[in-house]
Amino acid sequence: MYCPSCASDAQAKFAAEINIHLGGLRNIDNPGLLVFPNLLVCLECGFSWFTTPETELALLAMCSPKRDASTRKGDGRDVAFGRTTAA
Ligand SMILES: [Zn+2]
Repeated sequence: MYCPSCASDAQAKFAAEINIHLGGLRNIDNPGLLVFPNLLVCLECGFSWFTTPETELALLAMCSPKRDASTRKGDGRDVAFGRTTAA
């Protein structure tokens, strides 16, 4: 797989824990959703991505301000959250 940011094939997988904050005033007291995905990191530019597990994806869909957004059945949805290092 090639990095979608720089097209490098130098990537490594890491175990991660990520707290996803839901945002918005109605979630101001919500501590967020803790997920434990495998993180794929581009070792050239730092672009990183992971797949949200299906159970947590369903919770996000229920709590999202965009409740009418379609959800996909299966292994989850790819979520990119940007670079971990300066480019
Ligand atoms: Zn890259």
